[in-house]
Amino acid sequence: MKSIRLAIVGDIHGYWNKYDVNILQEMIQPNHTIFVGDFQNEDTNFISNLQNTMNEHNLPFTCILGNHDAWATTIDSVKHITTRIPPYDVNKVNNIQKSLEILSTNHVGFSHKNISTLNLSIIGGRPCSWGGPEWSNNFFGAPAMFYKNIFDINSFQESANIITNEINTSKYKNKIMIGHNGPTGLGTERNAIVGQDFSETGGDFGDPDFEIAIVNAAKHSNHHIPLCLFGHMHHLIKPLKHKDEIWHGDQGDGNRIMCMKKDNIVYVVSIIYIYRSIDRL
Ligand SMILES: [Zn+2]
Repeated sequence: MKSIRLAIVGDIHGYWNKYDVNILQEMIQPNHTIFVGDFQNEDTNFISNLQNTMNEHNLPFTCILGNHDAWATTIDSVKHITTRIPPYDVNKVNNIQKSLEILSTNHVGFSHKNISTLNLSIIGGRPCSWGGPEWSNNFFGAPAMFYKNIFDINSFQESANIITNEINTSKYKNKIMIGHNGPTGLGTERNAIVGQDFSETGGDFGDPDFEIAIVNAAKHSNHHIPLCLFGHMHHLIKPLKHKDEIWHGDQGDGNRIMCMKKDNIVYVVSIIYIYRSIDRL
């Protein structure tokens, strides 16, 4: 079987510049690069610049938007939350749609891409995921309202149906799943690959819809799903002693499981252990 080299880039939150592109091009030399979301807080200029730079260097990529890529729009869907006001009038500007138009076929959230040169299809889970088992109670129901308003989706099951359809209609037998957050079913420990480190008792913070779609697809012999990539849970494990304090990612006291195999699928979360202070694009 022909091997391919993939680069996974997660949760860059604005930290991306020409040196990162150089590392990709000169050192990693991937056949394909996958961004698993959280480029910046709904910054369409940042997304546009990043894409232009990747194109200029002939670095093909696929991506899925993260919760921060819908940050202001999501919060705005709950009118009584006034702590974070969008920097624009959401009634006049649809930054989600704008992001999707900029990225076009490079974005596979609720979609897929067939790559003939790699004999591979890449299928995206639910874009802009905040993670967790609650559809409507998560953060005052903001994500649920966001999905209803933007994607006309009202439940995990409806979302799972869309992802399943994308798997079934993708061209190649070899399929890679990508999400902003990982699926449920991969452990409940605080340091599990999608574990709730922010809860004293841990818990599974995966996307149930993502698990439903992947597990159902993996049962069929016409799908070969060797890999599932995601981000979102990208910090060191939060120390319990700091649970009531403002916590910064570099103060963690343990490693999250970054990679695991279950039912012949390898799951990888992109983790950032060091915050960099470098120029933005
Ligand atoms: Zn995120």
